[in-house]
Amino acid sequence: MIKGVSVTPGLACGPVHVVRAAPDEVPTWYVPGSMVEHEVGRLHRALERADRDFQRRQEIVAEEATPRDAEIFAVHRMVLQDQGERLKVEERVRDGVNAEAALQAYIERLEQSLDKRLRGGLARSYAADITDPWRGVLDCLMHDAQQEVLAHGEEVILAAAELTPQVVTLIERSHLLAVICEKGGRFSHGAVLARALGVPCVVSLPNLLARLEQGMTVIVDGERGVVKLRPLPADIEQFQGRHRLMIERQTALARDAGEPAVTPDGRHLQMLVNIESLRDFDTFDPAHVEGVGLLRTEFLYMERPQFPSEEEQYRLYRRAFEHMEGRPVTLRVLDIGADKQLPYFKTPEEPNPALGWRGLRILLDWQDLFRVQLRAMLRAGVGRDLRILLPMVASMNDIAQTRAIFDRVRASLLEEGYEVEADVPVGVMIEVPSVLFILPEVLKTVDFISVGTNDLVQYLLAVDRDNPRVARFYAPQHPSVIQALDRVARRSREAGVPCSVCGDMAGDPLVALLMLGLGYDSISVAPKLVPEIKYAVRRTPAEVACELARQALAQPNTEGVQAVLEEARERLLGTL
Ligand code: PEP
Ligand code: MG
Repeated sequence: MIKGVSVTPGLACGPVHVVRAAPDEVPTWYVPGSMVEHEVGRLHRALERADRDFQRRQEIVAEEATPRDAEIFAVHRMVLQDQGERLKVEERVRDGVNAEAALQAYIERLEQSLDKRLRGGLARSYAADITDPWRGVLDCLMHDAQQEVLAHGEEVILAAAELTPQVVTLIERSHLLAVICEKGGRFSHGAVLARALGVPCVVSLPNLLARLEQGMTVIVDGERGVVKLRPLPADIEQFQGRHRLMIERQTALARDAGEPAVTPDGRHLQMLVNIESLRDFDTFDPAHVEGVGLLRTEFLYMERPQFPSEEEQYRLYRRAFEHMEGRPVTLRVLDIGADKQLPYFKTPEEPNPALGWRGLRILLDWQDLFRVQLRAMLRAGVGRDLRILLPMVASMNDIAQTRAIFDRVRASLLEEGYEVEADVPVGVMIEVPSVLFILPEVLKTVDFISVGTNDLVQYLLAVDRDNPRVARFYAPQHPSVIQALDRVARRSREAGVPCSVCGDMAGDPLVALLMLGLGYDSISVAPKLVPEIKYAVRRTPAEVACELARQALAQPNTEGVQAVLEEARERLLGTL
């Protein structure tokens, strides 16, 4: 049993698929005796595939250049036919090492011995001729491993060194039972995606990869943040019991999912959703929520091979409005930089990207980009309930500059004969701590605010949300965070400006109750989390939520706040 940190709740049991830690890293796992013949078979099939591949290349080059140019591939094929060398790799596999790792070790040994015997540029190229064919086999194996998971259509638990957006989206959601990782922040973008997909996920599992074998059965408990390796029949039976309970509970929650989140004494918490991709709209019923509180447009940009044109964006945003059937949609302007990079527009390497060129800073420097997006948003918002949200606002100047651009864009659209709504609410994210201290001024100039706790926590506590090494210091339950949230709720109430929380911490039903107690009007969470939160709100009187907030605010440290929340969780919701 390995104890980690839960990112997404849920239970799963199934075979594990170990993912390469990094594109150039070869996975290593132990092959038990019973699986050795299967592993040797994988090696042989990869050798045959590499041979066919070299033969195909030889034919193509011979045809397109000359047979002489194609000879190198004949040499490659001869290298792979050397039975003595093949046996060396095979023996390693028979010692219990997976084929990829056995090949990698063989290639490294070959390089070292060639290096000792030969020196100079010519020698190096000769060495490459000898090792390249084996690399070709390794490529086949790596590719096969990926294809095997997809082709078998088997449902798997993905295990990786680090929780990244790539890992979470590596295979189709329908084949993904859970994701488990050695490292990864609970509020990193990989975690945001895991929650959006509703895939059970546990991170901070020390030495996970070293303890796994490909295909080994594991149980993932996303509720408690633990992973059990090689479960015994009794463990599986217990898992099945809890799994049944979970499904029953989800079915019951789904039945009431259309009811609003109103406390028994009548306080209403507006339930909005966070959207990353248009596909997310297929995962929930729009009638069960009250709007989109945060549409991260950068993910729409990421899914394309180049910057989407104004027309393309217009169509995407229109589709978002159509999905929501008249309900409000909050489009956040492009928030790239740090770990959210577009494949076709990499921001320059920076020593400290979280504090660097990101979010609104990029848009204010690259106003063409900003204008195109605002034009598309304003055009798409005609006759719809559009709200525009600005990320990473740090000063009044940011708001003033954006307002000026917004007004010019609006005026030029009208001049060109486009229809534009007279009043489009513009709000700001509260995620850079500097705005906490100028809230009264900020609130005079904006139509709504939304607290981005993912970044607010990182900047308040000086902890990079994407750096696994400091993940243990990333504490949304730190008293400073709770005080900041309290301050925002109070100030915006005084100013009569609607305030919401769209950071991921609000997705925990207990934290949602805390937000209600602090005085927030609404929260915006991954669609999958809505039923649980509604359930919690519907059975908790507002006064109890206010008392929870009072107790949390009185705590001097993170542990104290956590203890208050956990005690309330058992008392109010019970545990699965
Ligand atoms: C946040 O920072 O809390 C937020 C909602 O935005 P993102 O996670 O996209 O930075
Ligand atoms: Mg943010």
